[in-house]
Amino acid sequence: MAIESAAPAVISEEDRAKEIAELKAGKTAEMANLIDESEASLAEEYVLPGGEAAQEEASVEILSEQADEFTCASCFMVRHRTQLVREENGQKFCSECEG
Ligand SMILES: [Zn+2]
Repeated sequence: MAIESAAPAVISEEDRAKEIAELKAGKTAEMANLIDESEASLAEEYVLPGGEAAQEEASVEILSEQADEFTCASCFMVRHRTQLVREENGQKFCSECEG
């Protein structure tokens, strides 16, 4: 690996996934496993000083929250999608407003 401390947080999950995919395509699962572990520990080291990795995590979290939640068009509260009881022209209504 040519990655030095001058380039923190360069090891992204994308790069890791790419390498693993290449390994899985051409080589044994055992080798993929070895690479996975060493890359994982490297990534952990770079998360702390860098901060970029932390940002990535945060954005992923926000995305998953949005996928799970909606804003009620009646009370404008953010509700979990399990509370979604009606959707009309892109407007969503929660169980409290519709109940
Ligand atoms: Zn509501």
